[in-house]
Amino acid sequence: MGTTECKHYGAYIGGEQVDASGGETFEVTNPANGQCIATVAKCTEADVDRAVAAAAAAGPGWAGLPVSERSKALLRLSRIIMEHQEELAALETSQHGSPIRKTMGFDVPLCAETFEYFAGIARAMTGDVLPVGPWARSFTVKEPLGVIGVITPWNFPTLMVVWKLAAALVTGNTCVVKPPSVCPLTSIRLAELCTEAGIPAGAVNVITGSGETVGEALVRHPGVAKIGFTGDTATGKRIMEVASCQAKPVGLELGGKNAMVVLADADIDAAAEGAVFGSFFNSGQVCATSSRIFVQESRYEEFAEKFVAAAKGLRVGDPMDPATVIGPVPFGAHRDKIERYVASAKKEGATLLLGGGRPDTPETQDGYYFEPTIFGNATNDMEFMRDEVFGPVSGIATFASPEEGVALANATPYGLSASVWTEDLRLGLNLANQLQVGTVWLNEHLMLFCETPWGGCKQSGYGKDLSTMVLEEYVHTKHIYIDTTGAQVKPWYGILK
Ligand code: NAD
Repeated sequence: MGTTECKHYGAYIGGEQVDASGGETFEVTNPANGQCIATVAKCTEADVDRAVAAAAAAGPGWAGLPVSERSKALLRLSRIIMEHQEELAALETSQHGSPIRKTMGFDVPLCAETFEYFAGIARAMTGDVLPVGPWARSFTVKEPLGVIGVITPWNFPTLMVVWKLAAALVTGNTCVVKPPSVCPLTSIRLAELCTEAGIPAGAVNVITGSGETVGEALVRHPGVAKIGFTGDTATGKRIMEVASCQAKPVGLELGGKNAMVVLADADIDAAAEGAVFGSFFNSGQVCATSSRIFVQESRYEEFAEKFVAAAKGLRVGDPMDPATVIGPVPFGAHRDKIERYVASAKKEGATLLLGGGRPDTPETQDGYYFEPTIFGNATNDMEFMRDEVFGPVSGIATFASPEEGVALANATPYGLSASVWTEDLRLGLNLANQLQVGTVWLNEHLMLFCETPWGGCKQSGYGKDLSTMVLEEYVHTKHIYIDTTGAQVKPWYGILK
């Protein structure tokens, strides 16, 4: 069941694993059985200084390469990741609990594809020639920002790093990554593979430790030009506050409380299948998970029945078993949090339709498992419908009219994503226009591609990951003006004469 050897990992600074300056370590455990799988360097502020210095030193050389050379390094990295697919997938599964069929079939291939995608699109990034007048040539160039601090959450431990790393690197920046302390191992291994791919030592560094100490030290560090953050909304607000002392830009991919709006004319079989994927992919530990499901009154019973029937068969168990689709959640305190929300849903009067507890099977006894859980008769003001539970728990509520469905979907401080289910695409588009979110899916939920921008509005943050749009997040645009006439004929010279 997963990796059992307790191996030591250093932070990755300047192209090698190093111990923390204070010599301390912390443990990473396998959530499927609670066993230690690694001890990891517990970095200090001095280590953050070391990592930022290494990234700054690697910066000019890396930024000075033609984009074609940076692109080739990313393509090599993409190939190397796939050569290590089994190793990386097993490591991800053993630190996170995500089933091996997902880490093999989704996380690792998508990491490789993301590097490949950014290797391609960066070569097409251009500046503009600006029509200021006949006396000058005026144009823009895109320059890297410098050292990027990449701070990421535990729900997709590798992919969330890769989304930012690929875009930041290919545009000529160097990076210091601060992965989540519960799942830091794949980030360290990925940094080693970056070096193997020919990305210079120091261009990718990984510091390991708690968010409050090393994460915050990275945000505060004057040598860091920008923070790319994915995580909880409360943490994002704190990071904005700390970064403000240097007016440092931050990109924020924050939480979500995403709605599915199922209209009376929808294909209910498809909507039920979509709800299973939207609610239970990665055990619902997805910022875009469909945890609030609004169904038009006349189809509520049918939808609830089909959703429950489709979710009933999901196999919960050992994540290393290729047949498993739901593994454990990554740590005990997180399962405790899920259990608190389930208790509160019951107390507030929601009807438990499926799950609601720990599975009772021999193989799940030692891990942090929780069953796929569905509540009916939910309302939008219940605690578990307001807050991000971030686990395999969804609630179904009803609405009378399409307008009410959209109003309920919008009645949240979050604005990440939503889906609308209807056979009437004109009405669907109309409702999509009214939803206050970064992404709307029609007759689908949770579809992301390298080509499509990802990011929210309201308290789900700002800025984008993925797509060609994200390149702009990691460069600054410099305007250069060249006088070509020498003659002082510009319109406003006369003002001083
Ligand atoms: P978190 O905010 O607790 O932690 C994220 C990272 O921030 C971790 O590496 C953590 O160590 C670090 N951190 C914590 N406090 C910090 C501080 N004061 N300064 C600097 N760094 C600090 O989030 P989490 O629990 O790991 O992840 C779950 C959250 O991530 C959910 O809210 C989820 O919706 C969100 N998320 C959003 C997206 C998106 O694209 N919008 C994607 C994935 C996850």
